[in-house]
Amino acid sequence: MAKKYVYFFGAGAAEGNMKMKNLLGGKGANLAEMAGIGLPVPPGFTVSTEVCTLFYKNRRRIPGAVRAEVEKNLRRLEKAVGQGLGDPKNPLLVSIRSGARASMPGMMDTILNLGLNEKTVAALIAKTGNARFAYDSYRRFVQMYGDVVLGLKPVHKDEIDPFEAIIERKKHERGVRNDLDLTAEDLKDLVTRFKAAIKEKTGQDFPEDPMKQLWGAVGAVFGSWMNDRAIAYRKMYDIPESWGTAVNVQLMVFGNMGNDSGTGVAFTRDAATGENVFYGEYLMNAQGEDVVAGIRTPRPIVDLKRDDAKAYAELERIRHTLERHYRDMMDIEFTIQQGQLYMLQCRVGKRTAFAAIKIAVDMVGEKLIGEREALARIEPDQLNQLLRPIFDQAEKQTAVKAGRLLAKGLNAGPGAATGRIVFNSVDAEAWAKRGEKVILTRIETSPEDIKGMNAAEGILTARGGMTSHAALVARQMGKVCVAGCGELLIDYGRHDMTVKGRTLKEGDWLSIDGSTGEVIEGKIDTRPSEVLRVLIEKTLAPAKAPVYQTFAKVMAWADKFRTLKIRTNADQPDQSRNAVAFGAEGIGLCRTEHMFFGEGKIGPMREMILADTLDERRAALAKLLPLQRKDFAGIFEVMDGRPVTIRTIDPPLHEFLPHEEKGQREIAVEMGIPYEKVKERVESLHEFNPMLGFRGCRLGIIYPEITEMQARAIFEAAADTKKKGIGVEPEVMIPLVGHVKELADQEKLVRATAAAVMKEKGVTFKYLVGTMIEIPRGAVTADEIATVAEFFSFGTNDLTQTTLGVSRDDAARFLVPYVEKEIYAKDPFEVLDRDGVGQLMRMAVERGRKTRPGIKLGICGEHGGEPSSVEFCHQIGLNYVSCSPFRVPIARLAAARAALLNAPAKAVRAAKPKRAAARKPARKAKKAARRR
Ligand code: PEP
Ligand code: MG
Repeated sequence: MAKKYVYFFGAGAAEGNMKMKNLLGGKGANLAEMAGIGLPVPPGFTVSTEVCTLFYKNRRRIPGAVRAEVEKNLRRLEKAVGQGLGDPKNPLLVSIRSGARASMPGMMDTILNLGLNEKTVAALIAKTGNARFAYDSYRRFVQMYGDVVLGLKPVHKDEIDPFEAIIERKKHERGVRNDLDLTAEDLKDLVTRFKAAIKEKTGQDFPEDPMKQLWGAVGAVFGSWMNDRAIAYRKMYDIPESWGTAVNVQLMVFGNMGNDSGTGVAFTRDAATGENVFYGEYLMNAQGEDVVAGIRTPRPIVDLKRDDAKAYAELERIRHTLERHYRDMMDIEFTIQQGQLYMLQCRVGKRTAFAAIKIAVDMVGEKLIGEREALARIEPDQLNQLLRPIFDQAEKQTAVKAGRLLAKGLNAGPGAATGRIVFNSVDAEAWAKRGEKVILTRIETSPEDIKGMNAAEGILTARGGMTSHAALVARQMGKVCVAGCGELLIDYGRHDMTVKGRTLKEGDWLSIDGSTGEVIEGKIDTRPSEVLRVLIEKTLAPAKAPVYQTFAKVMAWADKFRTLKIRTNADQPDQSRNAVAFGAEGIGLCRTEHMFFGEGKIGPMREMILADTLDERRAALAKLLPLQRKDFAGIFEVMDGRPVTIRTIDPPLHEFLPHEEKGQREIAVEMGIPYEKVKERVESLHEFNPMLGFRGCRLGIIYPEITEMQARAIFEAAADTKKKGIGVEPEVMIPLVGHVKELADQEKLVRATAAAVMKEKGVTFKYLVGTMIEIPRGAVTADEIATVAEFFSFGTNDLTQTTLGVSRDDAARFLVPYVEKEIYAKDPFEVLDRDGVGQLMRMAVERGRKTRPGIKLGICGEHGGEPSSVEFCHQIGLNYVSCSPFRVPIARLAAARAALLNAPAKAVRAAKPKRAAARKPARKAKKAARRR
């Protein structure tokens, strides 16, 4: 059978359907589908996307076989409507429209009213009795054709369109201001002038023969697949050139034939809120372009009830038919021609994140879709819309239009925040205390800024990437954060910052959007999150919170399907409580160093660092012990028997000392020691590359008393909590391990301390000792490390830094252009680099499980809350992901989608080996470690 290139639709038949998008393009497939289910679609035919490919292979000519098929379908169309192309009595007029597989709005060309010429226009006048309408249609056709097919366009981009120039001249001559004031005679004259201009500028005659018009138009629409706009758009949205466009030839219907005609666009539900209401607008006596052109103000769709009750009722019926048929919210275009309704287009409607969630959930309730499909339709990050405060959209748009958008940084902590600028943490706290909302604006943040960050509405930094201190602490706190905004020139001394030539001072209002990275001058109102008010603030009853209920349904469905467990990164009881409210099943990372900045702890910590002897160090650690124990007990209580992974100290010690003279002098006075000593110690701790320096397990190996103190604080807190009748499951995690002997060294200390505490307290409890896998050597030798480690937690922040050799704190400057240049598709500190870092993880999983089949595997780097990285973690068979509290719901949904999309990972289902068997290799390893 000969290959088929053209597909007919309408008049009670359809050769295509919605599944044929690749061949017929989105528009063609949906026109066929609508025709197939009996909706009133003006008949026509689609020339397939394959012809587009042939067209280019054939040096931009339409192959003979296709021409024959087009002609055959044209005859069929003529017969179906009882009109003939070029028929001087009863002329057929058609539209020629592009339509690719993916929507490319406005990028390619369209020609309307094709078939008009000097003879057929007379027939149109006779038929409609409306000369103005006929000449208006004719002049629009000549204008479009002259532009698209014959190429009469402005030469420079600032030049006025040559056709518009002619219209303007005519209006001037006639002394009118509005197109609508031009008469039939004027429009007729415009047609003549247009044709003359075409001849003069292009040397071509305007084709009178409608068949010639048709071939010219079809060729030009195929040709528009390769115009500059379309090429740029494809590049932006990753649409392959090989897809090609289809061309739709369809009977023209007119919404501008009088007051019984009209045209409109609508969504089957509200695309902004998701509400199940008919939402759209229309204009009577108008053509499609008038609705969007903004010359006349379109009316809300419900008003159509008054203008044409019959058409409105039919549209309502079609709205329901389409939703039931497509099982989704649709976007439609329609025209009413002299009281007769026609559907010109339908496609799945674009919607806000908020609407996407509501529609998916509502449609499950309406039995249009199932729970799995609902989950597949909600992008996990869209949940941020329900969890975070958002800007008043109208206000934000006004601000951006008014030129108040100052810069764009990394969208490090989602949500909207507005407040007054302060440039240091002390001010942030002080201002917040007196009731001011503040945006803490820093070149970068350090652990010293914790309190200021906590007091601020949002955090803005000029430097640092997605895993910089500001970014990860902000996420853990649930703060809005824009990081690495390189355009800001911050001057701490002058208390101001300059951006785009504007200077903003301390106290000026600033708004930051942590979901988009935008930094906007001035104040923009925010709307609080209903979910937060129910779950965290507890100021709203669930029954009175419809958005919360939608959220809760999505979460319940997600939990049904996911196999990954979800934990959180938290180091304060309140953070832990928030995370549990969001559904966390344990803590995957408690960074103990963050605790040292809490009330009363930084003093003894600094004493410990400044100590000269072991005894002095021990004395300082003894002061820290009860404070840390209290912190841990608080967390254990909140977590109520859920596993809690606590990491021993990780950052380099200099981070706990001030770097400026003023701070160093203050400490010296506080501690009663000479300033020179503090200065000298800070200098001696200085490292050229602290991230690769004296940090992680190296600290505990050189100063075992630190690990001992921390282990004691953990186990004493566990014992005390257990004594209160609350379950505990501590997991002690050693950071930055690259060699099994490092881990074995620390494990010995931890286990000895555990045994001592259990004996002293007369309580026993289970605990685990494990490690982070966060440097490549740790991943490569995971089989050896697993001989000691009872669990691995992938620290993908450091693992990315060390695998790529890219500093996590200094990367923004070149990673942003790297992503623009598509060297990395996404920032690897945000989205896991599956091909590099991911392969090391896969290797570590396999090697770790080989040694110890029951080893617990998780991730606690920032990737643990990023949907595509969560999917990868599912694929390689991790047991859990751990992320900041506010990302827990996102991770729950991402894990469910991963489970639904990917075959269940074997390792996840692997039976838990007996404890004795799991421990055995550990003993072997210790022996091996001793031998080495
Ligand atoms: C990591 O490196 O991924 C990690 C979780 O540890 P930190 O960010 O504290 O270095
Ligand atoms: Mg790390």
